[in-house]
Amino acid sequence: MERILNFIGGSFVPPASEEYIEDVSPATGKVITEIPDSDGRDVDLAARAADDTFRSQWRRTSAEERSELLLRLASLIESNAEELAMLESLDCGKPIALARRMDIPRAVQNFRFFATAILHVTNECHPMDSGALNYTLRHPVGVAGLISPWNLPLYLLSWKIAPAVAAGNCCVCKPSEMTPLTANRLAELVNEAGFPEGVINIVHGYGARCGEAITAHPKIPLISFTGGTATGAAVMRSAGPLFKRVSLELGGKNPNIVFADADLEQAVMTSIQSSFANQGEICLCGSNIFVERSAFDGFVERFVARSRSLRIGDPTDDTTEVGALISQAHLEKVSRAIALAKDEGGTIATGGNRPSGLSESLRGGYFLEPTVLLGLGRDCRTMSDEIFGPVVTITPFDDDREAIELANSSRYGLSATVWTSDLKRAHRVAAALDCGTVWVNTWLLRDLRVPFGGMKESGVGREGGIDSLNFFTEAKNVCIKL
Ligand code: NAD
Repeated sequence: MERILNFIGGSFVPPASEEYIEDVSPATGKVITEIPDSDGRDVDLAARAADDTFRSQWRRTSAEERSELLLRLASLIESNAEELAMLESLDCGKPIALARRMDIPRAVQNFRFFATAILHVTNECHPMDSGALNYTLRHPVGVAGLISPWNLPLYLLSWKIAPAVAAGNCCVCKPSEMTPLTANRLAELVNEAGFPEGVINIVHGYGARCGEAITAHPKIPLISFTGGTATGAAVMRSAGPLFKRVSLELGGKNPNIVFADADLEQAVMTSIQSSFANQGEICLCGSNIFVERSAFDGFVERFVARSRSLRIGDPTDDTTEVGALISQAHLEKVSRAIALAKDEGGTIATGGNRPSGLSESLRGGYFLEPTVLLGLGRDCRTMSDEIFGPVVTITPFDDDREAIELANSSRYGLSATVWTSDLKRAHRVAAALDCGTVWVNTWLLRDLRVPFGGMKESGVGREGGIDSLNFFTEAKNVCIKL
């Protein structure tokens, strides 16, 4: 595949360093292409291009103009969906069926949603009895720095670009250095859609060099970051002294609570998804499953049997259900977490190994069997640290109070899932859980209008719907004495 370049001011340009980073296929361990090892000089070029375009034209465009361009981009993604799904699968190790079903359609939806949302926003007005009128104007902030992770590359990058640009900002984006392919294809589609040069810029490179240069750049007053919690803290440290507006979508260790009165078949089937979809590399995966004691044995038996039957293999094969982990380093991290679980007294009900029977071409890939851990103490690290792989714990509980306590004991607070057929219990437990999203009898069902984000170490702020549009704009109150 041809070497990837940065996308700055509408052109594809090499990095100032003239250095490149290898992009490796998770399924084979082989190099797919090279991407720029960008540094502050490239970020500065991109920030200036974005800032010039913002000041000279983009901030004065009408919502209709921006909407039309974003809708055109959405349609271009849709008409190139198969190619984009293949690129995502190749780069990320994710099953192509998942990329076709989830990643690429969601990128299309992200652009359509915000392209049309801006046509329907209303501004607040506060008349005063004393004879004055307040109204709120919302202006774009300027240049948005958008930093995204490797697990849902186009899905999450478009979740940031769409509202930022729809609200009238220009942007400097940095996809993960491990998954640059769909961002690079998006850049070509941005030009095809007819966006003015400099509205959307993409710089590739390592987080500590290129990402840090974005968070520290004086011409980038806003940062939307999705990634790990430790990196989120580094982003805060860099952006804080410059008083940047920051949104952080961070890690999770999400509880999946199954009450005995639930539809257990449905709970098992969906929990297989919430445990192992995308190899467990989704921040919303429910990696600690808590099952009411009377249903515990039955749940475990069915869950383990289903886990064993998942088809692991070539991510680009239509029938694959579990692909490869993102990198050798990540595979080692997840394997260490499994070893730690054993040291902590856990037993492996299934999985824990490299799958057997992989074809010759996949021998260098980063595959791991879906792994189910039992018998762990509640305060151990396996139950509290994010593993971000195809690994779940299953633990029994005795009553609602205990289930809530177990769920809330986490230092994370991103999402939770509750399985019950008792409506009152569903409301009661959902209200008591300390996290940004609670799913009841479902998982990952997303309405783009709702607030999305995490409590505690899972993040700061909310994105989605009006929350995104508010985040990407400055509110200004105008008070007129009548
Ligand atoms: P990461 O934090 O290592 O990297 C995320 C992005 O930040 C990458 O583009 C990386 O290059 C960049 N980066 C790294 N160091 C940086 C720095 N010092 N300054 C600026 N940018 C920097 O995360 P990852 O390994 O790519 O993704 C996995 C993590 O993301 C998991 O913890 C997962 O839970 C989290 N995640 C959260 C959500 C959410 O919505 N809350 C969604 C997806 C993933």
